[in-house]
Amino acid sequence: PAQSKKPLRMLIMGSPGSGKGTQTERMMKHFEMEAISSGDLLRKHIKAGTEIGTVAAKIIAEGGLVPDGVMVNLMTEELQKLKDKTLLLDGFPRTLPQAEALDVALASNKMPLDLVINLDVPPEVILQRIEDRWVHIPSGRVYNLSYNPPKVAGKDDVTGEPLSKRPDDNVETFKKRLDNYFSMTKPLISYYENQGKLRSFHGETSDIIAPQIKEELAKWYAKQ
Ligand code: ATP
Ligand code: MG
Repeated sequence: PAQSKKPLRMLIMGSPGSGKGTQTERMMKHFEMEAISSGDLLRKHIKAGTEIGTVAAKIIAEGGLVPDGVMVNLMTEELQKLKDKTLLLDGFPRTLPQAEALDVALASNKMPLDLVINLDVPPEVILQRIEDRWVHIPSGRVYNLSYNPPKVAGKDDVTGEPLSKRPDDNVETFKKRLDNYFSMTKPLISYYENQGKLRSFHGETSDIIAPQIKEELAKWYAKQ
């Protein structure tokens, strides 16, 4: 994968089911980066039965948002561990207070955010994706039964371990997640637009969007 001389700080945003995890996997094939997904991190805490996991499990199952303070602590700890790396954050920040806390944390490392990738996917195509989605929890790898099925049904391609259905990937909970996205997260688009950092990519499928992102990232990696 292509390297960047100066570490980059990037975010990927988009509604639930817009393909953030899928695009992240594809970017990692072409560009050197560490990806941190707040949702994957929380699911690992739940699986491990930690204190954070216990609090998060109920909230996530109901389609709510984990409190800002918990998320900020969790994510700044991860950022600290990966201080000198090129980073892509997925799922964090999700509220304005989280975005402000992230800016403060990055400023104190003298590493401000470079780029915000926004996935702009029509809402009509998203619900079907969620019904077809299966995940490998330890790695965060995502499969879709219609257009990206696992090689062996129900098994992760890399490890052969079982895939699971996310408990929040059902119609009722998904509606709440979408509502939260529109009220809490979508306002961040103008926050980053005002900072001149936002790049939006439009398309109905991940295959259409992936090459557009690749082109944008190639510019960033080349110019550092
Ligand atoms: P997708 O995985 O399809 O992109 P998503 O963005 O809704 O969908 P995740 O990012 O995996 O899903 O997050 C799952 C759940 O974890 C959220 O619905 C929320 O309850 C919780 N969560 C994740 N990140 C945050 C955050 N930054 N702030 C608050 N809650 C969060
Ligand atoms: Mg995700």
